[in-house]
Amino acid sequence: TSVLEIKNLHVEIDGKEILKGVDLTIKQGEIHAVMGPNGTGKSTLAQAIMGHPRYEVTKGEVLLDGEDVLEMEVDERAQAGLFLGMQYPSEISGVTNSDFLRSAINAQREEGDEIKLMQFIKKLDKNMEFLEMDLDMSTRYLNEGFSGGEKKRNEILQLMMLEPKFGILDEIDSGLDIDALKVVSKGINELRGDDFGSLIITHYQRLLNYITPDYVHVMMKGRVVKSGGKELAERLEAEGYDWIKEELGIED
Ligand code: ADP
Ligand code: MG
Ligand code: MG
Repeated sequence: TSVLEIKNLHVEIDGKEILKGVDLTIKQGEIHAVMGPNGTGKSTLAQAIMGHPRYEVTKGEVLLDGEDVLEMEVDERAQAGLFLGMQYPSEISGVTNSDFLRSAINAQREEGDEIKLMQFIKKLDKNMEFLEMDLDMSTRYLNEGFSGGEKKRNEILQLMMLEPKFGILDEIDSGLDIDALKVVSKGINELRGDDFGSLIITHYQRLLNYITPDYVHVMMKGRVVKSGGKELAERLEAEGYDWIKEELGIED
């Protein structure tokens, strides 16, 4: 079982401290939801873990099975088994979705151990069918002219094709209608198991009606201020965030 540990993580953007000491430990087999009001640093957490150059880690650690993730280049993080939704350029002209997926899979494999074309196509067809995607999505250029819902579905397709150790999904549910939300959730639930851990970042509780998290964390002002089980998300849905602010004496 792999473990992703985030320890006392401090992150700055343009010299401004956004994350002020985040601690989280995610094991494979677990789904963690991170919730919180807008602007509290949820996306910053995801970007910092994946190594976006704009996000400067000033203190703390990110460890994957004890290995220092922060020392790794972005592509090395992916090779080590971390996946961040939307980590790829939104549109790459001249590269089909299928070509892109195949090279992404091969980038994770040793030279000489590339996935066989037939095996790749079988897996792609199976997963696209599962996600109720039009088969012509595979021959379209990556993200070119994809609708919002198609992009999110495609992100889940990437996840199912790449089978990372950990998937970090930021706002995978925003802008989705209920049908697309159900399909996206179906994909994540399909991946769920001993070999997959996930950090699902969401502003809304509704995604968690379809994906039952093992743990729920609330972020405010750059810190995880409260953690619990799925009942925490249910309380947030019913009562919002004010009670947490009151409980912890957080000022607006
Ligand atoms: P969340 O995902 O929780 O809504 P973000 O991580 O996107 O929060 O943003 C946290 C804070 O960092 C906000 O105050 C936001 O204004 C600021 N911020 C985010 N991205 C940038 C950026 N590229 N440059 C400057 N400030 C930013
Ligand atoms: Mg935001
Ligand atoms: Mg965000």
